[in-house]
Amino acid sequence: MSESLKAKVTELFNEPGCDKNVAKGEKERKKGCSKPLTPGAAAGGCAFDGAKIALQPIVDVVHLVHGPLACEGNGWDNRHAASSGPTLYRLGVTTDITEMDIVMGSGEKRLYKAIREVIARYAPPAVFVYSTCVPALIGDDVEAVCRHATDKLGTPCIPVNAPGFVGSKNLGNKLAGEALLDHVIGTMEPEVSTPTDINILGEYNLSGELWQIRPLLDRLGIRLHACITGDARYREVASAHRARVNMMVCSTALINVARKMEDRWGIPYFEGSFYGIDDTSTALRAIAQLLVKQGAPADLLDRTEELIASEEARAWQRLAPYRDRLAGKRVLLYTGGVKSWSIVSALQEMGMVVVGTSVRKSTDNDKKKISDLMGGDAHMVDNIPPREMYAQLRRGDADILLSGGRTQFVALKAKVPWLDINQERHHAFAGYDGMVTLVRELDRSLSNPMWQEVRNPAPWEVGDIDAFLDDAPLLVPIS
Ligand code: SF4
Repeated sequence: MSESLKAKVTELFNEPGCDKNVAKGEKERKKGCSKPLTPGAAAGGCAFDGAKIALQPIVDVVHLVHGPLACEGNGWDNRHAASSGPTLYRLGVTTDITEMDIVMGSGEKRLYKAIREVIARYAPPAVFVYSTCVPALIGDDVEAVCRHATDKLGTPCIPVNAPGFVGSKNLGNKLAGEALLDHVIGTMEPEVSTPTDINILGEYNLSGELWQIRPLLDRLGIRLHACITGDARYREVASAHRARVNMMVCSTALINVARKMEDRWGIPYFEGSFYGIDDTSTALRAIAQLLVKQGAPADLLDRTEELIASEEARAWQRLAPYRDRLAGKRVLLYTGGVKSWSIVSALQEMGMVVVGTSVRKSTDNDKKKISDLMGGDAHMVDNIPPREMYAQLRRGDADILLSGGRTQFVALKAKVPWLDINQERHHAFAGYDGMVTLVRELDRSLSNPMWQEVRNPAPWEVGDIDAFLDDAPLLVPIS
């Protein structure tokens, strides 16, 4: 690992804005946060993957991966981050270095040529250049190549120094944030700036969730200056230092960006969530209060309350038909981070019972919020091994599993309904409208008649196998 990268990683492990880190002793802090990965297990992404996830939603730039082809194949657009315009971010671009480049030491040259080619072909406002394990191990100086290319070609080339081996996906998110702080944020001035400009950090517009929030802000006259990074344009991120308030929706991912923006440009930040009715209202209130403190007109507070009252009433009206159907249903929630508590409160709003929630990647603050919401019954788990989860679901401990795609097969094998709430989801669950979508999808999963069908014994398990075969459709040989 290069000295500069080592220093960056150490700095992140000492992040004062991270409460987990602050609670540690000096010795423990030095060890860092990353857990050793289990060989052979689907480890949940490397640091490069984390950096790519965090930055790829900047939609008008080229994301160029310096490494073997497979790294880009691994990390390319696996999250449905939506764009309202440019599609350049979805282009898979890699230097595809091979053994020959390693032997001949031609990686840097190849990288420069690739940068020159993408700029000539697409004229992007910037090129994000990701380092991966192989070039980092052979000592390619990605930062120097980017500096040279920026000077020579006149387009900002942003080095993202997060090769996979340095640690987890979460560390990669933070290293991506460092790349933004070092090379992007503060490098441009906005064309317009208003007293109600805000940034949202850690929102990636998955399945278009940002578009469920933006209209609410528009109605309040709050201008979303930059979403870092969902549906973002380079210029917005580069001038994000002129916003008045930062909201952080995923604390573990970009806390370093929020904290350093406060230090450098005096932008206050708070952590909030747009999942669930209560949390959406709380977040809108917090934005309004902070903006007023920062000099926005005071009537924003009243207008926010009016909007909250009308949106809440509308949402409850739309949810009413589902409440009786869902009340009392037991949910096993297997997610992490901010969703571990924000989804809990969303489900409780519908009278559902959360029988367990995982707190992987959750901060101490997240865990405290879960305890506050679930009281003494809070059943928090870190990891549930698939075998144990299967046993729980087979026993009937929960009526539905809410998780990411990787655990779906456990639920399906146990013949229990499942709903995807992680990054690969196809539905947008944010804001008041998102809550209605979430509840509708929960109801659809729970009441799907398929579950009864698959739980019934197969015909050959209960009856006469010959009679079953007699009734079965004949196979017609293909001539
Ligand atoms: S661990 Fe290294 S080689 Fe594997 S995908 Fe990540 S960056 Fe590429």
